[in-house]
Amino acid sequence: MRWMVVTRFAPSPTGYLHLGHAWSALFAYESAKREGGTFLLRIEDIDPVRCKPEFAAAIIEDLRWLGLTWEEPVRYQSQHLDDYADALMRLRAMGVIYPCFCTRREIAEEAAAAGHAPHLTETEEVIYPGTCRNLSADERAAKLAEYREANWRLDVTKALTITGALTWHDRERGMVEAHPEKFGDVVLARKDVPTSYHLSVTVDDTLQGVTLVTRGEDLFRATDIHRLLQALLGYPTPDYHHHALLKDANGKRFAKRDKALTLRALRAEGKTQEDVRAMMTDLALTMFRQP
Ligand code: GLU
Repeated sequence: MRWMVVTRFAPSPTGYLHLGHAWSALFAYESAKREGGTFLLRIEDIDPVRCKPEFAAAIIEDLRWLGLTWEEPVRYQSQHLDDYADALMRLRAMGVIYPCFCTRREIAEEAAAAGHAPHLTETEEVIYPGTCRNLSADERAAKLAEYREANWRLDVTKALTITGALTWHDRERGMVEAHPEKFGDVVLARKDVPTSYHLSVTVDDTLQGVTLVTRGEDLFRATDIHRLLQALLGYPTPDYHHHALLKDANGKRFAKRDKALTLRALRAEGKTQEDVRAMMTDLALTMFRQP
């Protein structure tokens, strides 16, 4: 059987798609089509506060308008919380996650008291100082009984002693050494949302048979964490292709504030699908021309 590439576009429905998203969606689509493969769409709607069903519907409409097609069904993460709970239970049985009862404020204070300012990373606000990792089994049980709910964190040091050193492959940058420890003990399930971006993206890419993960280079280092979760859970590792983010004419990343450059707004203005594709190509050419 021929090895078939499977890619996906995985937006979070927290707003309308802008040109930066469209660029990323096309990148994934073309990466599949070039090799006669399959393109999937996944709606990453685990956060009930920030995600809205009307944005999910708008994303689908806008992508269709742009001329993209994908293999049905669209996967909505909010409908698959059991899959993430299963993975979390396996990690718990392995002893590589622990409940954390700290508030954001306590974490910031603890980090400051230890003499270092909170570190900013791409996916987490601060590196967790490890307070709850060091609780005894009795203390943990007492707190679980008292608070009932906790954030579940990955014990990254323990996890790495199980898996050993890890690498993954990026189509642009070649073999990459994974250093998930740089992020500290990331949260894998929250009190209010029983999963997290890292956990659900890793589970879904496996369950959906994704063989090539394409996404913006802002998520490049997050792949280290996903690689560690794959190794712990016995999942295969897909190939990766992190692409440069499309920037606006001033060299800035597109953001929600760029209302005029959403696909909806451009369409309302009378732009065609070809116009929008041409706009993206122009911006990309400008970017690549810049030193
Ligand atoms: N849902 C993520 C986002 O919208 C992207 C996930 C991914 O491609 O891994 O930023």
